[in-house]
Amino acid sequence: MARSERKSGSSSDSELVFVGLGGLGEIGMNCYLYGLGPERSRKWMMVDLGITFPEGEFDPGIDVILPDTKFIEAHVKDLCGIVLTHAHEDHFGAVIELWPRLKAPIYASPFTATLLKTKLAEQGGRHNLPIREVPLGSTFEVGPFSIEFVNQAHSIPEPNGLAIRTPHGLVYHTGDWKFDSAPGVGLPPDESRIRAIGEEGVRALICDSTNVMRDGRSPSEEEVGASITRIIKKAEQCVVVTLFASNVARILSVAKATRAAGRRLVVAGRALHRVIQVAIETGYLPPDFIYADQQRFSDYRRDEVVALLTGSQGEPRAAMARIADNSHPDISLAKGDLTIFSSRTIPGNEKSVGRIQNALARMGVDLVTDQDALVHVTGHPRREELKQLYGYLKPEILVPMHGEMRHLREHGKFGRAHGIAEVVVPVNGEIVTLGPGKPAVVDEAPVGRIYRDGSLLIGAEDMCIRERRKMAVVGVIVVSLVLSRNGKMLDDPEVVMEGIPSQRPGGGAMEDIVLDVVEGTIESIPPSRRRDIETVREAVRRAVRSSVDQVWGKKSVVRVMVSMLDVK
Ligand SMILES: [Zn+2]
Ligand SMILES: [Zn+2]
Repeated sequence: MARSERKSGSSSDSELVFVGLGGLGEIGMNCYLYGLGPERSRKWMMVDLGITFPEGEFDPGIDVILPDTKFIEAHVKDLCGIVLTHAHEDHFGAVIELWPRLKAPIYASPFTATLLKTKLAEQGGRHNLPIREVPLGSTFEVGPFSIEFVNQAHSIPEPNGLAIRTPHGLVYHTGDWKFDSAPGVGLPPDESRIRAIGEEGVRALICDSTNVMRDGRSPSEEEVGASITRIIKKAEQCVVVTLFASNVARILSVAKATRAAGRRLVVAGRALHRVIQVAIETGYLPPDFIYADQQRFSDYRRDEVVALLTGSQGEPRAAMARIADNSHPDISLAKGDLTIFSSRTIPGNEKSVGRIQNALARMGVDLVTDQDALVHVTGHPRREELKQLYGYLKPEILVPMHGEMRHLREHGKFGRAHGIAEVVVPVNGEIVTLGPGKPAVVDEAPVGRIYRDGSLLIGAEDMCIRERRKMAVVGVIVVSLVLSRNGKMLDDPEVVMEGIPSQRPGGGAMEDIVLDVVEGTIESIPPSRRRDIETVREAVRRAVRSSVDQVWGKKSVVRVMVSMLDVK
């Protein structure tokens, strides 16, 4: 990749730039910016604002990660809008929390807009977000950018590709997509529109890289529906199906399979209820879509019911996990029942999903996963589909997005091998010029991660995370001392230990080691120097830490508080 020699701030000519604040080097936390104009007076548009989950890292107390938007916050008056491609959490999950920092109008198609409004209402709607609902297939303006929504297929209704028209050419930003002529709900991908955009001339293709390692084409949602129907028809007892709540096509496939088997559908899990309501409201499920709430489960015979559940990723509080450990208030499983995991296990969730599957297996419940049968299909393009899109659009430039580093690099190679002349593989924060002239990384924007910690948002580099990580492993010892000005201990030291083994080897309390070493340390400091609180604090801290380390083999966190009183 060419890195231009140009220094930041030296360009007075208008140009079109692209930068990812998330999503370039990870599958998740998608957040991209397009900028137009001379560097000093650039107008910006944001595409997507999603979350990700900690994966393999040790971040105690953190379960949601958001992109750090400080770069665009510094240009917030020039941010003309936030365009959402679709309603998956990795594309729109950070909108409600980060909007107060950005305050730009939000553009979304009806399903995405309705789901966002529903979530906002459920959370108490502290801010009245300016959500502009944009019809499918329509064209609208965001500052100097002209945006056209293009119908695609994916694993949620209304995954829009964006044709972004600028004075420096047209950019096609795919969002998440696949080619599927039978997507189950909604319109199939608008291939003739995509072809027409290609004929208009495409400067750059910014493209989903998730499945670039996989050959061939992804199966259709219709085939998954047929396979689930066959499995449910053969089942002899209760069937439960767990899936991604937002997969409306799959909800419909399972509902149809349930009816075809002469069974009734029961739904458990708040996220599923929310999505079903929004899908009915926006026309993706029929107004008379029939399902019963989970409380009705026991009203039916076990061989006449199919339960649809949240929790396919092993989320501990979701319906699937509670059924697996027999703590669900309404639904229980028994030997000979069948559980279908109509989902893919997202990397990082293997252990929690495995735990649930083992618990079900212990009960004698039969399992079907995407490893056993066609009960799930990806929503992302495989190689043949990528080739087909290149063929339609014939872009001059390819920028891979929505992938880990290995996916992005592979996608870059694949694009080059299939005739795309210019390929740029930026990481988060690298500012790429897309025109005029040769594309290149020309500058860098500050990027990072924000953690949702309880009800606060904190920087990933916040010390509290490092402290928490440390204390979780080595515990904490707090020592409180009261000294007189001439250095006499006025009372026994107080010691609090959390997360430290209570017994020392050979018997006796660990606390005694601490008390002994505190007294010994104070005595070892000459009385004249005991007046300096800092000296006392640091000496005691070091001594306690090393004496506990000697018996335990771990350096715990030690905090020492010293009060000095004016008594003779
Ligand atoms: Zn998606
Ligand atoms: Zn995505």
